[in-house]
Amino acid sequence: MIPADHLLSRTLSDWQTRSDLPSAEAADVYRRFHRNGSHPAVCPDGRVVAAVQTEDATRKFLLTHEDGLQTESVIMPIEGRSGRIRHTLCLSSQIGCAMGCTFCQTATMGRVRQLTTAEIIAQWHHARHHLDAQVSNIVFMGMGEPMDNLDAVLPAIEILTDHNAAAIPASRIGVSTVGHAEGIGRFTQFMQRDGMHQIRLAVSINAGDEPTRRTLMPITRAVSMRAVRGAMQGWIDAGGRPILLEYVLIPGVNDGPDAASLLAAWIAGLPCRVNVIPYNPKVDSPWPAPTDHNVDAFIDAVARTGLPVNRRRTIGRSVMAACGQLGTA
Ligand code: SAH
Repeated sequence: MIPADHLLSRTLSDWQTRSDLPSAEAADVYRRFHRNGSHPAVCPDGRVVAAVQTEDATRKFLLTHEDGLQTESVIMPIEGRSGRIRHTLCLSSQIGCAMGCTFCQTATMGRVRQLTTAEIIAQWHHARHHLDAQVSNIVFMGMGEPMDNLDAVLPAIEILTDHNAAAIPASRIGVSTVGHAEGIGRFTQFMQRDGMHQIRLAVSINAGDEPTRRTLMPITRAVSMRAVRGAMQGWIDAGGRPILLEYVLIPGVNDGPDAASLLAAWIAGLPCRVNVIPYNPKVDSPWPAPTDHNVDAFIDAVARTGLPVNRRRTIGRSVMAACGQLGTA
């Protein structure tokens, strides 16, 4: 019997080179395992979906891995043009996170450990085959800092885009980072590979000025906003798609009268879209969620600077599945 992880951690061509099976047979096993969810020659994946929590049509699921630790992933419905429901799957790249952002629930766990490529792909596999999600988009916006685990994340993207596995086009895959400049550089190289040019980069900026960003995101002390901007410029210069700039709006913290213009001045000249995420309170949060009025006022202020801007829909808050609320005890 073939261990499931051998198929969860490899692209088809990689698997064919390593397998003892004749090439055509290896390909058949690989395709059927990924497309149907199982194969008689493959050991059933030992991971189990420990819990599924639902709010409206959003589902958060916990997957228990071999060492008993769990990842959290979120399945969000999106209605296509034809009215057909498809899903965006939000994947975790680590258990916990080392970045320490003060507004994020996951940060309170610290970094417990890296996920392997198989553990990342297993989240897709379970969403697709055990929870029947029609996954058309993937975002690395769950637990963890993907740029802190590129050795597992980049191979996972190759499997997600492999026509014989998940077959999700690179244009529908996005990776979000705290602004890990070196990681953005490596991701830029990856984007230049065949078939990867359309992949998306998102940067969580959360402030337009260094002092405010430092209070929210400790990484700012190691990687200045100037260095982040430099890495983003490198992405654009290499032909990368416009960048999604994520801005978690926290009342009284980063929604001051100058906040939008500081952001616009910092990013000036780089193709991007600002995505305003209304703050989702973490457990025992010192800050409330912004009111709709706060959010609209900030969005208007950003729009007045000329930057394209939109608001991220808040979903899953009641089951702690919204942005920044993932984190297991
Ligand atoms: N580490 C990566 C990816 C995970 S976080 C990153 O920082 O981008 C995904 C998004 O959720 C980030 O934009 C982050 O700023 C945002 N986020 C974190 N905590 C949040 C909260 N409490 N409310 C709303 N968004 C939050």
